[in-house]
Amino acid sequence: DLTRATFDRIKETEPTVDAFITLNEAKALDLAKALDLKGISESNVLAGIPIGIKDNIVTKDLLTTAASKMLYNFTPIYDATVMDKVYQADMIPVGKLNMDEFAMGGSSETSYFKLTKNAWDQTKVPGGSSGGSAAAVAAGQIPLSLGTDTGGSIRQPAAFNGIVGMKPTYGRVSRYGLIAFSSSLDQIGPLTRSVQDNAFALNAISGYDEKDGTSAGRSVPDFTAKLTGEMKGMRIALPKEYLGEGIQPEIKEAILKAAETFRQLGATVEEVSLPHSKYGVAVYYIIASSEASTNLQRFDGIRFGYRSEDVQTLEDVYIKSRSEGFGTEVKRRIMLGSFSLSSGFYDAYFKKAGQVRTLIKQDFDQVFQDFDLIIGPSAPNVAYGIGENINDPLAMYLSDLLTIPVNLAGLPGMSIPAGFSEGLPIGLQIIGKHFDEQTMYQAAYAFE
Ligand code: GLN
Repeated sequence: DLTRATFDRIKETEPTVDAFITLNEAKALDLAKALDLKGISESNVLAGIPIGIKDNIVTKDLLTTAASKMLYNFTPIYDATVMDKVYQADMIPVGKLNMDEFAMGGSSETSYFKLTKNAWDQTKVPGGSSGGSAAAVAAGQIPLSLGTDTGGSIRQPAAFNGIVGMKPTYGRVSRYGLIAFSSSLDQIGPLTRSVQDNAFALNAISGYDEKDGTSAGRSVPDFTAKLTGEMKGMRIALPKEYLGEGIQPEIKEAILKAAETFRQLGATVEEVSLPHSKYGVAVYYIIASSEASTNLQRFDGIRFGYRSEDVQTLEDVYIKSRSEGFGTEVKRRIMLGSFSLSSGFYDAYFKKAGQVRTLIKQDFDQVFQDFDLIIGPSAPNVAYGIGENINDPLAMYLSDLLTIPVNLAGLPGMSIPAGFSEGLPIGLQIIGKHFDEQTMYQAAYAFE
């Protein structure tokens, strides 16, 4: 009944948000029926819960496009490890969610397939790249979705749609079966309406995976264990760079108010500095584009998806398939990445970016010697109008300044709702120590 009601709700609301690229209705109903026959054990809190999956996570026998023309007809023959975990938890995958093409973007407007709308205002972007994952949850289509975050793509759309989004520590969740954008930055994580749901979801998808060489061999604690409301003695840092220039005044106000709430709950909140965070955007766009340029080499018109028809030679197949299959933003990044990896420029760009990345990580290490958590805004602005920024890539890149440093340092970061500005949600970002998502959930729950 729940699965059927979910599809009814999706069909009713889909014309307003356009969150899904593919629906999995027949298979989802079969799964639900099988689960009814098998029976649900009480300890399995996620059993039967409908879940939406970002379309860059490969799903066996279910179209997986990464929102690209390049993969318009790609039906994988295997499941990502997170999908194995979704099935182990008896969750019901209801469909694949829209996103920016290959997760490159911050508004979901680079999708080849459709324009997803913000759940609060149809004239505004849902954020991105996990825009479908966020809008579907915020619009009440599904209680839970999976997104991916390379430079903010879970936290920023969560903020724009007023929901909870977690980017776990790098290595916490297996990337096996995630269509790679930037392998040293990508992480899969859950988007939900409540903190507790989010913690349950992370319990289900975390853990070591021998199929992912960067998966962490850490045990997974129960992420719901510290949802007590207790905040006494917690030490919270507020970086002054996160409230500086370019942050909308209403957002600044909301974050200062959140800091006050944490104080009232018994925590201490003190100003700190992350002096190298200002280089984050430059470093990220070199590293992410470089890694993307190599990861996307596999889309050659031979092995996967789209192949140009208008070809004479093998060279034509490569060039025309890629020219016609990739969108503008993806091509821009392939060119930028190939340039910064090329022999004449490697030292000046890719190598230098790696060095500054270390400095950014050391800033965080320093702060975490004296603090348990860092807070700040998730994004410098609330959701903006569809079409407003898409032709200004630099403005788009600069708006990632608050989320990117977390990925560069491999830290966990989450966004939770923290008020509104003119009817549009504001996100509070909480950053934790490596593998300490538990304390982030503790604070998020106490705040919620
Ligand atoms: N907006 C950033 C970008 O365009 C982040 C994307 C992401 O996290 N996948 O690269």
